[in-house]
Amino acid sequence: MIDTTVFHNKKVAFHTLGCKLNFAETSAIGKKMSDEGFVKARAGEQADVCVINTCSVTDTADRKCRQAISKLNRLHPNAIMVVTGCYAQLKPDEISKIEGVDLVLGANEKFSILEYLHNIETDAPAEVHTTKINKIKEFEPSCSRDDRTRYFLKVQDGCDYYCTYCTIPFARGRSRSANIEQTVQKALEAIEAGAKEIVLTGVNIGDFGKLNGESFFDLVKAFDAIESDVRFRISSIEPNLLTDEIIDYVATSKHIMPHFHIPLQSGTNEVLQLMKRKYNRELFEHKVQKIKSLMPDAFIGVDVIVGVRGETAELFEESCRFIESLDISQLHVFTYSERAGTKMLDIEQNTPIAERKKRSDILHLLSDKKTKAFYESQTGKTYPVLWESRHNGENMVGFTTNYVKAERTYDKNRVNAVEMITLGGWNDEKSALEIEK
Ligand code: SF4
Repeated sequence: MIDTTVFHNKKVAFHTLGCKLNFAETSAIGKKMSDEGFVKARAGEQADVCVINTCSVTDTADRKCRQAISKLNRLHPNAIMVVTGCYAQLKPDEISKIEGVDLVLGANEKFSILEYLHNIETDAPAEVHTTKINKIKEFEPSCSRDDRTRYFLKVQDGCDYYCTYCTIPFARGRSRSANIEQTVQKALEAIEAGAKEIVLTGVNIGDFGKLNGESFFDLVKAFDAIESDVRFRISSIEPNLLTDEIIDYVATSKHIMPHFHIPLQSGTNEVLQLMKRKYNRELFEHKVQKIKSLMPDAFIGVDVIVGVRGETAELFEESCRFIESLDISQLHVFTYSERAGTKMLDIEQNTPIAERKKRSDILHLLSDKKTKAFYESQTGKTYPVLWESRHNGENMVGFTTNYVKAERTYDKNRVNAVEMITLGGWNDEKSALEIEK
């Protein structure tokens, strides 16, 4: 048994980069540390320990992580500097050489941070503890609250798909999850703590339960059966795992919101094959049409990557035409960047950086057009809105069940409360719809 009384009232500072999953995990690490006596360093206070949870989705993400480490080292020169997350798993030696780093923890080790802190020698070179990625079995369901109203519940980790452009399977390991009972228990704890809306997160959440004979659909039904007025959002789910039965279920469910986020990545079958995605565009189109036939007002967000190897100008144009034809609400546009160790690097045809940027601009404009049309189709409709604490000048914002951002005059009594409203026209900045008086 480790004597952790040494941690009482020690100050810890956290810095998280990357996705919602990382934020949920930082929150779980923070909970373990506060259970053992750590307290969060307030702004301006010197921390005893800094924990940096990194991302490695692109080279730019790696650079931002290195900058964050250096900045924290300047702010807290005497702190023990712990670096974990995807970048730490992928390039531990590179990180261990950054000035000020004391401890590098991989994907399997991050939740055992207290043991490593207990044993660390600070004046020695940085310690590196990682596990080979194919040996990673650890899974911790975890939940974090953003500074708004939403909670992010990590229901799954890792991925078995190995898309040719992606390094996530090398950073997070094989697909794994807890069971339904444990996952629902985490959601109940969040509801107990005041959650009104819970976003399900993971790397490939549709793969939930694969190792223990359960399924994501069973999990969705278990969440829907919770006796509470909480709202759940599915967040991103692979189109081949978004089954027709899940869509049918969401259409009549009490708690699962009519809001979908589906990665398409390219609108041509040629590029989808180069990416080794597990569906074709006809399947994607079917999913969108099915959602819209059952839930005409559902919000559908779609991920697209531009400029991958093999995406010629003609294929990009064809992809744009396909995306334009879909009844969707928003695009999340990512610009391809080469990642060492990925299969996509074997493809010779390359897209110049300037051309990648041009394609990204084109799709951002298309996204704006889609979002504008979707929002304008919602004017005059009545929905429950969950108001958040965020201010927009004199106003507060919230989201309808189908993820339309609404705005009203700030009223602190309405924060984290639901109100039935009718959507009006745009606000001045065209970033949200006002409510009809
Ligand atoms: S589904 Fe593909 S893109 Fe998504 S995490 Fe897995 S390998 Fe990466």
